[in-house]
Amino acid sequence: MTTGRAQLRQPFLFVGNHPCLDFINTQMIVRGNPTDLLGGYENLVDWLLQAHMVDKTHAVAVMTQWGHEDQEQLFEQGVMFRRTLRDMVARIVARKSIAGSAIASINHILSRCPGYPQLVYKKGGYTRQFQSQAAQKDGLLAPLAEAASDLLCSGKWSLVKKCGNPACILYFYDTTKNHTRNWCSMQLCGNRKKVAAHYQRKRNNPTLCRPGPSAGVRLS
Ligand SMILES: [Zn+2]
Repeated sequence: MTTGRAQLRQPFLFVGNHPCLDFINTQMIVRGNPTDLLGGYENLVDWLLQAHMVDKTHAVAVMTQWGHEDQEQLFEQGVMFRRTLRDMVARIVARKSIAGSAIASINHILSRCPGYPQLVYKKGGYTRQFQSQAAQKDGLLAPLAEAASDLLCSGKWSLVKKCGNPACILYFYDTTKNHTRNWCSMQLCGNRKKVAAHYQRKRNNPTLCRPGPSAGVRLS
């Protein structure tokens, strides 16, 4: 996949309803061009920070105290793990069995990150949160491996969906009441399809539709 230019501070999308899917969604299509929001380790650390998977102290330590080689290694591992997760999720959506290599990757990261679950009170209830005891360098991707294992063990696979726009590569976990969500977001793909359907109806039967706006909705 070719990539667009990544900025130092990215406006990441969090529309996946699951951290594992949000991480995969750092690859997207923007105006028809495959774009990777992770252009370097700075973007990866920034994403982990925005996803609340690393605290600010650790993020600052990676950016200011780690050597360049360690930073690049973290980035390579992160991007490789994202590729593994994208393939895993594509298989879930296609109702195919999960590749053994994906399970091995998740287990590898988990095995290097000893820790323990803790109960945390959040949004009116208790939730389990993984506390890593590993050294910082081994522990940074652990929350992502935990999220992936949570999706495989506790998630309902039929609710993992790809956006209904064939030109879009974003995934989401459908938490709507009747599980009828089709789009990554109304703003990005839903409205686009609605406008297209509107003009299709208008073409088929002009008397049914009143005059509307002449411009279509742009994919931002
Ligand atoms: Zn979409």
